[in-house]
Amino acid sequence: MQYSKRLKPSRPFVSLRKFPFPYCAGVAICSDIDDCNRQTFIDIHRLLNLALKLPVADSFFGRKRWPWQMAYYENDCRTISADAPFLDQAIQDGLIDSLHTWGDFQDARPDSESLRKLASGITNRLIRNGSQIKIWIHHGTLPNYQNIANRLHDGCRGDDPGSPFYTAEFMQKLGIKFCWLGELIDWPLSTHRGNFNPIIFRRLAVNTFKNVVKCFIGRRQRIRSSKMLTDLCYPQQLRNNQTILAFSRFFYHPDGQQQVASRLTYRHCLKPQVLERLMVEQGYLILYTHLAFPRLWNGEMFADIKSLRKLEKKGYLNLQSSQKQTSANLFPHPDMEVLKNLAQHYHLGKIWVTPTVNLLTYWMSWHYLKWHVEENKHRQVIIIDKLDDPTTGPRQPDENELAGLCFYSSIPEKTVIRLGNKDLKVSINPHDNTGRYSLSLALPPLPKLDLLKNE
Ligand SMILES: [Zn+2]
Repeated sequence: MQYSKRLKPSRPFVSLRKFPFPYCAGVAICSDIDDCNRQTFIDIHRLLNLALKLPVADSFFGRKRWPWQMAYYENDCRTISADAPFLDQAIQDGLIDSLHTWGDFQDARPDSESLRKLASGITNRLIRNGSQIKIWIHHGTLPNYQNIANRLHDGCRGDDPGSPFYTAEFMQKLGIKFCWLGELIDWPLSTHRGNFNPIIFRRLAVNTFKNVVKCFIGRRQRIRSSKMLTDLCYPQQLRNNQTILAFSRFFYHPDGQQQVASRLTYRHCLKPQVLERLMVEQGYLILYTHLAFPRLWNGEMFADIKSLRKLEKKGYLNLQSSQKQTSANLFPHPDMEVLKNLAQHYHLGKIWVTPTVNLLTYWMSWHYLKWHVEENKHRQVIIIDKLDDPTTGPRQPDENELAGLCFYSSIPEKTVIRLGNKDLKVSINPHDNTGRYSLSLALPPLPKLDLLKNE
């Protein structure tokens, strides 16, 4: 086919919509799986995914600290846990999309040889299953040497090729592309106003001042870049020279960010004012949470492990036994109300709620996609040129990485999207609140829920 003109993407009749049609903002609930057993995982996701119909995926541990905890391996790092087949299936179904590091070593640092065997065991198992994990989530404090060093925790060794705790090669094999390294923020990111938002502009100025002070007092490694304050992701080079996309999570509590993120902090993090601002600013929000906090024990909630240990000393319970749990009231009323409100915004097509891996992949494709338009008098062709992926270098994107992308077009019914030699399947949308028409690629698939129904 001969095309008469080559147009720049900046021309008004074809442009990339900020979010998939019809949404105007994006939210993912991103949970650290600390102190969670299988039954609690099922109960919580039944409530979120089945009752509220919110597509929420979770994280997993490689190695457990407590006998009742859900993980691939027992405490000894060698014995496969009874939860392993459940985790295999949950990962394949998209109910789990993140690795909360190779294991929970909050009590004592890992033995380096066992750690490497553990990392290789999990990686080989997942590769055999045909599963890929794209997200790594930092866990806990320093006995956890498997973490990746970052500006807040520079003692970690997971990405240091000279350390016996080096395991980042397995992360690479597993397909890890996005890492949370501990950055928390309490405003929407990658908004349509970006750095020009007056509130953010003030914070950027304060941050610059803080960075100068850090340089003067010899704490250069603590410098926070302005991208960390404005963008959902920022490219980060690890000590083994691998580049990943680090991302920031959202957390807000009136008493400050030192509070533990749990099921009882949703009332602050997702209050209606937060969602309103998110929609006005057309931003991204990846919520920092621990879905199994407060811990449940015999139907009661415990804010921290210390209170459970005190009861154990008095002989009321045994932390080394199987955990008996009931989940009568997982989310108290104020937290349930904000979750219902979020679900309503999602079901009304206002806020796109999706598993973290989908939101991050979408962000990456939206930001780094290169495309152009060719047209003749009959139709327009949007040609996908490449993805300037900072973690791999420029490459042709997979079709599933383009899921959800939506192009405004004045003639959507005469427009096609082409990747390589293939015209992709699109749907035509009615006009949105800007009055413009668009065409979309299908959204990424939702987590399968059979495991929650059958277990
Ligand atoms: Zn953790």
